[in-house]
Amino acid sequence: MNAVDSARMLSLLSPVSYRAASTLEEADLVLLNTCSIREKADQKIYSDLGTLRRWKQRRPGRLIGVGGCLAQQDGEALRKRAPHVDIVFGTHNISALPEMVRKAELRLPALALGMGEGIAHWDVVPYPPAGAVSAMVAIMQGCDNFCAYCVVPLVRGREVSRPAGEILAEVRTLANRGVLEVVLLGQNVNSYGKKEGEIPFPELLRRIAAIGRITRIRFITSHPRDLDDRTIRLFGEAGTLCPHVHLPLQSGSDRVLAAMGRGYTRGEYLAKIEALRRVRPDMAFSSDFIVGFPGETEDDFRDTLAVMEEIRFDSSFSFRFSSRPGTRAAGMKEKVDPREAAERLRRLQGRQAAHTRERLSAMVGREVSVLVEGSSARDPGRLSGRTGCNKMVNFNPGSGAGPIRSVRVTGAGTHSIAGEESGSDV
Ligand code: SAM
Ligand code: SF4
Repeated sequence: MNAVDSARMLSLLSPVSYRAASTLEEADLVLLNTCSIREKADQKIYSDLGTLRRWKQRRPGRLIGVGGCLAQQDGEALRKRAPHVDIVFGTHNISALPEMVRKAELRLPALALGMGEGIAHWDVVPYPPAGAVSAMVAIMQGCDNFCAYCVVPLVRGREVSRPAGEILAEVRTLANRGVLEVVLLGQNVNSYGKKEGEIPFPELLRRIAAIGRITRIRFITSHPRDLDDRTIRLFGEAGTLCPHVHLPLQSGSDRVLAAMGRGYTRGEYLAKIEALRRVRPDMAFSSDFIVGFPGETEDDFRDTLAVMEEIRFDSSFSFRFSSRPGTRAAGMKEKVDPREAAERLRRLQGRQAAHTRERLSAMVGREVSVLVEGSSARDPGRLSGRTGCNKMVNFNPGSGAGPIRSVRVTGAGTHSIAGEESGSDV
């Protein structure tokens, strides 16, 4: 979501004569698009702002802007803590950026933190550069779930879905520009349109799948509680729906899930995974985990490890619980000792690394279809791209042409697979 917002900022600033600089020294304006999901993210921003103070002093007229979730969360306090910041704009004020930059150029105060402007910033569509084969499309913003640990509803506001007509028009334009893959974005895509009485999420997927030329559809993030049967069935019907679901479990303990306010049990989660595997046996799964949530015992943590052993996720993101201001969990008393939480994280990540290796190794010898994203970062002679199940592949090109190549997998690494192009264009 932040990547899409950053692209929007760039689109908005080009009419007022700003373009992306290739180095910090070349820049006249630095915009930090911030995250406040965990404490570490916001500490990092204040440390970056320290470095930028010296950058600003080196040449008069340089400007610093801070936007996104930390700006929304800290607001005026951010300017007090870092008075050299010229512009502060919240998550709902991206459209005001050109006007704020003008004000800052005139040395006028530039602060915009209102959250009542709803979906005003859908008006700027950040189309990807010419030649891009994949594009992200925001379909909603905000979140109404208020999971006990999470600051998102507080900093990104209530959930608002974008009209389906606009989304479909954007996807058609992307298809006309040669984009083959769209990634639909939202904090809980499965509740798309419910509040507004829009078409349901699976119907949106069906209509996107009917747009010719779009060969891959992905979406992120799915909330396990709201992933419905119709969406699950669609994975068996629409070949363009990629066989990968990111379905954050957070914890394998029913007690912890209830305290987090997630709205599902471990059994319900497992039933959804099973249903998805029934319609698409090749389905890949990824997840998010939080360890050390207040009150999590060793037994609760073992429940998480047990679910991991059962499902064997292809990959996951895992974090130590971080107390966020204004959330319910911040007030919970039974905090887990930070050393214990760090140890649990290490154990969880060790199991995940083994499962990821196992999943990647199982692909060796198979033929996969790869959407090429560019040259491999390590070896420019090789190409790099993703399979439908979201595995990164680095491969030696053959005689094929075009962005979709057929590749025989010859080896597995820690996070990616290696291969040889089979020669035939698929
Ligand atoms: N909306 C998505 C969902 O419900 O799955 C996730 C959104 S959040 C930006 C991404 C991940 O950050 C969450 O799934 C969770 O694992 C993690 N996270 C959120 N708040 C956290 C906190 N206070 N401490 C540690 N991890 C957190
Ligand atoms: Fe945060 Fe996701 Fe829960 Fe919303 S559903 S509150 S974004 S973790």
